[in-house]
Amino acid sequence: MDTNAFLAQKYKITVDALNFVKKAEEDLKEVFAGFDETASFNTYKVLHAFKEANVQNRHFVGTTGYGYSDEGREKLGELFAQIFGAEAAFVSPQIASGTHAITIALFGLLRPLDTMLSITGKPYDTLAQVIGIGNNKASGSLADFAIKYQQVDLLPDSKINIQAVLDNLYLNKSIKMVYIQRSRGYEMRKSLTIAQIAEAIKAVKAKFPKMKVVVDNCYGEFTEDLEPTDVGADLMIGSLIKNPGGGLAPTGAYLAGTKECVDMAAGRLTCPGIGTEVGSYAYGYLPYYQGIYFAPSVVRNALKGAALTAYTYEKLGYKVLPRYNEPHPDITQAICMESETGLINLVRAVQKSSPVDANVVPYPWDMPGYEDPVIMAAGTFVQGGSIELSADGPVKPPYITYMQGGLTYENTKLAILCALSEMDLDMD
Ligand SMILES: *Cc1c(COP(=O)(O)O)cnc(C)c1O
Repeated sequence: MDTNAFLAQKYKITVDALNFVKKAEEDLKEVFAGFDETASFNTYKVLHAFKEANVQNRHFVGTTGYGYSDEGREKLGELFAQIFGAEAAFVSPQIASGTHAITIALFGLLRPLDTMLSITGKPYDTLAQVIGIGNNKASGSLADFAIKYQQVDLLPDSKINIQAVLDNLYLNKSIKMVYIQRSRGYEMRKSLTIAQIAEAIKAVKAKFPKMKVVVDNCYGEFTEDLEPTDVGADLMIGSLIKNPGGGLAPTGAYLAGTKECVDMAAGRLTCPGIGTEVGSYAYGYLPYYQGIYFAPSVVRNALKGAALTAYTYEKLGYKVLPRYNEPHPDITQAICMESETGLINLVRAVQKSSPVDANVVPYPWDMPGYEDPVIMAAGTFVQGGSIELSADGPVKPPYITYMQGGLTYENTKLAILCALSEMDLDMD
């Protein structure tokens, strides 16, 4: 059957929308080719790591209880270390979220009277209570343990202020950790490229060779050929319901880096002295191995979707970040929708195109912890899985919509076609 006719019949996609996206895909050829190249390299890198780590069927089997000599768990750590050019890594279904994994790293590496220096401005929202900054105080934060926090804001154009970082390090001898957030999270700044991260690490290590550099790598994996650990990060952290889970990992996170740092963090994952020697998972690790295997390809699909989204709204006159032909160092795409109806239209288009709960119509609601009503679409297999196509935004000017993920490019394309079909495109 003719695809366009099918889409017109089943999703009421208009001819104007189809023509618009056809033109978009022609203009995006080169951008897409770049994503393909990165995905190829990373796929071979991952395959070679499977070979080097000698992954076998028996590693997929689950264990129970303490999980002593759980080979699947140990091998998965070895595999991730190999892929990320790190000395060591652990991967655990017992880590509930990215924030939990970062918390393990911070508490594992820092000691009372140490200072953590964030060099990419304010960290991801959920970390404020972990660090003990901001208005809401949670019990048991770093601040409660007399661990201090300082930050260096990014320069205009989202560059790291390396001179200010070095000045801080010279002045404050209690700084024991330099903290970098690769992805922009929910700030309207650019995400960092690996080249920028490498430059900052090099500058820090040249003067302070023992300084520990920790990178929040959430949303960044496989968007470039190299990862922060390839360019000198001591520890990096990521969530498995984002990029490296490939859409298949049902939960969990990883930490990868030097053996010293990974061991320190492992003491917080479970207990000092026990570290990664325990931990069972009765379901078995198959989806984790399959997930990381698919991840480079899934990230490519998500990036193509992000570029198509950026192109579409940029051509329609909206401000987007990043622009379609700018680097995409993570899988998120922000669009300033400028109106409540624009925001709602896009979020509903995403929901309508999803595999799960496609018949649900999202409405703005007062989400706990947020000042303004939020609207979100998440018809995902894994709850909250943001490597899967999802969109959300606070209902307030300039009505920024954050769109991310997409296990297949076609899924995001359908969402864009649905959104365009609701608009008066005025094409001649
Ligand atoms: C997703 C994300 C996190 C962790 O978020 P969780 O919702 O706790 O998994 C941290 N930092 C960044 C930049 C992120 O994108």
